[in-house]
Amino acid sequence: MSKVIFLTDQRAPGTADGIAGAASLPAPGQAATDARGRPLRDLRISVTDRCNFRCTYCMPRDTFDSNHVFLPHAQLLSFEEIARTAAVFARLGVRKIRLTGGEPLLRKNIEALVGMLAALRTPDGQPLELTLTTNGSLLARKAAALKAAGLTRVTVSMDALDPALFARMSDTDFPVAEVLRGIDAAAQAGLAPVKVNMVVRRGMNDDQILPMARHFRGTGHILRFIEYMDVGSTNGWNMAEVLPSAEVLARIGAEHPLTPLETETMGRVAERWAYADGAGEIGVISSVTHAFCEGCTRARLSPEGRLFLCLFASRGYDLRALIRGGADDEGLAAAIAGIWSGRADNYSERRVLATRDAQAEPKIEMSYIGG
Ligand code: SAM
Ligand code: SF4
Ligand code: SF4
Repeated sequence: MSKVIFLTDQRAPGTADGIAGAASLPAPGQAATDARGRPLRDLRISVTDRCNFRCTYCMPRDTFDSNHVFLPHAQLLSFEEIARTAAVFARLGVRKIRLTGGEPLLRKNIEALVGMLAALRTPDGQPLELTLTTNGSLLARKAAALKAAGLTRVTVSMDALDPALFARMSDTDFPVAEVLRGIDAAAQAGLAPVKVNMVVRRGMNDDQILPMARHFRGTGHILRFIEYMDVGSTNGWNMAEVLPSAEVLARIGAEHPLTPLETETMGRVAERWAYADGAGEIGVISSVTHAFCEGCTRARLSPEGRLFLCLFASRGYDLRALIRGGADDEGLAAAIAGIWSGRADNYSERRVLATRDAQAEPKIEMSYIGG
């Protein structure tokens, strides 16, 4: 039986629909800001909770087995509903949309959604930056169509070069060579630079750090090392398996000297480093050892239209109820602005401080909300 916890109905007091009361909308061109002064700039849209991989740190097979019940199609937001909601987010300050999942390329005709989102404009008439995170399994097949539909760039997750280790990390027999082919196809299609995300688990795949760095140096692709996070409640995370980014940088820097690149505070996720010999750049995402909550400008929309304010949240706000209940765009915008204005989330900072409450709360699964 599935042990996944989905606590997704946030009811705010004093409102009939369970959504926080209307807030005044920001002036056109201004972003909605939260309780810590963080602007709403990024929207991550999870388009499916399904995946063809079973990465051990994300969808462990003993939980996500043949008995696991995925969301039925009727519960997913339709492409029209997603595009309409995204347009409202753009009105509220969002400049960048990332499609994710589950595996987003499993959602049928995802190119059509990309096309609809590519047509959106910010209040000052600019197109949005439109990216997608994928396990790469269907990328060789789909890269050209995604580019033609208006996708800006792509991020591919890949945790090992070694075929046996890749298979162990992703718990699939899908060949790593095919993921590499997807990365090249994306670059050739113009979805460049391709970012490659590697989750590092100490004692599991940390011996792949140098082979991965050597492989991607000089290719134009940007390899980024992600600290293993305590997302969800199913992966049995423990701190001993986290390899701090500082150690990643030390290992690579000993072989190929690195120099820091400037990174913005607001909206920052990765710290960027350049190879001193000009062979490109790498990034490290240190959500465990160096929290970046103070600049977190990301909202997350789940496959069935729940708005989450933090990757580690227990509860989401049911926007689908509003959308299907006949709310107009102004009403939807006011509800989202109201929800965002009350946001004070800073889970990773609290984890760093080792407060007990941060660890005790149930959390949404990564394969549902998409990272
Ligand atoms: N299936 C797509 C993929 O793998 O790229 C998109 C969804 S996946 C949930 C998004 C990202 O979350 C991937 O880069 C994955 O490696 C990362 N991720 C999942 N579980 C994680 C964990 N426990 N710690 C750190 N990163 C994680
Ligand atoms: Fe699937 Fe991505 Fe999670 Fe791996 S990380 S199981 S590819 S959703
Ligand atoms: Fe943002 Fe939550 Fe991650 Fe902090 S822990 S950076 S608030 S998603």
